[in-house]
Amino acid sequence: MKKLNRRDFIKLGGGSVVAGTAGFSIPNIALGASKKVVVIGGGAGGTIAAKYLRRADSSLEVTLIEKNDDYHSCFMSNEVIGGDRKIETIRHTYDGLKKHGINVVKSKATGVDVDAKKVMTESGDSFSYDRLVVSPGISIKWGTLEGYDEAASEIMPHAWKAGSQTALLRKQLESMDDGGLVILTPPGNPFRCPPGPYERVCQIAHYLKHSKPKSKILILDAKDKFSKQALFMQGWKARYDGMIEWVPGADTGGGVTSVDSGSMTVSTDFDDYKGDVINVIPPQAAGKIAQVAGLTNDSGWCPVDLGTFESTIHAGIYVIGDASIAKGMPKSAYAANSQAKVCAAAIVASLNDHDMADPSYVNTCYSLIAPDYGISVAAVYRLAEDRSEISQVAGGLTPSDASPDALEREVQYAYSWYDNIIADMFT
Ligand SMILES: Cc1cc2nc3c(=O)[nH]c(=O)nc-3n(C[C@H](O)[C@H](O)[C@H](O)COP(=O)(O)OP(=O)(O)OC[C@H]3O[C@@H](n4cnc5c(N)ncnc54)[C@H](O)[C@@H]3O)c2cc1C
Repeated sequence: MKKLNRRDFIKLGGGSVVAGTAGFSIPNIALGASKKVVVIGGGAGGTIAAKYLRRADSSLEVTLIEKNDDYHSCFMSNEVIGGDRKIETIRHTYDGLKKHGINVVKSKATGVDVDAKKVMTESGDSFSYDRLVVSPGISIKWGTLEGYDEAASEIMPHAWKAGSQTALLRKQLESMDDGGLVILTPPGNPFRCPPGPYERVCQIAHYLKHSKPKSKILILDAKDKFSKQALFMQGWKARYDGMIEWVPGADTGGGVTSVDSGSMTVSTDFDDYKGDVINVIPPQAAGKIAQVAGLTNDSGWCPVDLGTFESTIHAGIYVIGDASIAKGMPKSAYAANSQAKVCAAAIVASLNDHDMADPSYVNTCYSLIAPDYGISVAAVYRLAEDRSEISQVAGGLTPSDASPDALEREVQYAYSWYDNIIADMFT
């Protein structure tokens, strides 16, 4: 097989991501004087950027700064909430990344000196860089929703960052009496994982149907429509008929306006609702460090060049994953994975003074309606000619007349997708 040279690799750019998460191999380029790349955030975007930078150019000194000892993936966390999966199975450590020669630093990044090109950390250390990748995920916009602050989230969990919040929501469902009301409040767009709230509804319904069948779920949505809506609603009817009520934004006056964790009440412009378990999914913005570093605009998210993910505010800094404004792509782990590969290729190109070819990108998102009932959406994207958006050029959705066998297979594909993306991130 013909070996790729450096120019071939750079030409390939992120186009190679279409090969999928596990099968992407790129040549190793050793390029004289060592350059430093710092990556903030060891999640779906940051781990992949760090690993593929080292793979592309083993002379790079890559430092990954992550505030937690280990990573709890949000993906598959809804199954933990539904009770079919143990939380340990979504916890992953960073040991595997060290094998790639990545310097993994456990600390919180507290600031970025963009002039001196340095990242400061909570531990007092600072790390200089030639290029910086920022992939901190989301922050919760505390206080935007009246009554919802960090203390309230211990009573009305968001579980939109996986870990202790996931465990708390699960525990509350287990403690609830049969006949209880579970309320979920999905936010307006944009937010992390557009189908996530509705998959969560399915997983909770699955648990209640078997363990507390007199219970109900009420969704007070800020939106009038949502991702994979027709397929979700078909699944609700098929498996959880009569258990789930969805109230769209127009009927609630645009969703929830305030919450009171003392009385377990959620209010909209039209009504007050008392719940036994309340899952508030609050408005979100780019991770705090992106804000502190001045990488966000008025929307709270980070504008980037869509062909490289370089910030349009600070040159030499790249923002990927949920924090970025990747116009045309959803905020998902698979999108972050794809963006990280594009970004790694762009950094290698820029450090070696080469042009970056226009990339392709990919996203697939599975949702688990029941243990034998899955649905999915898949898309391949290209950069629009005027670079104003990432345009979908191919894709597909589970057909509405899919056979029971096909729906069951989607669940197996979802598990296989999870194993692949986790292997890509952590081994
Ligand atoms: C319930 C739910 C289900 C989901 N299901 C799916 C799914 O099925 N498929 C899918 O593709 N996506 C799914 N997602 C979305 C997915 O989790 C995110 O889109 C993805 O994790 C984004 O990657 P990221 O790198 O931007 O952020 P993250 O993966 O959150 O990584 C950010 C990392 O940065 C670290 N960090 C933050 N700030 C700092 C700092 N200052 N210093 C050091 N470290 C820092 C954090 O600790 C974290 O490890 C789901 C999300 C939710 C909530």
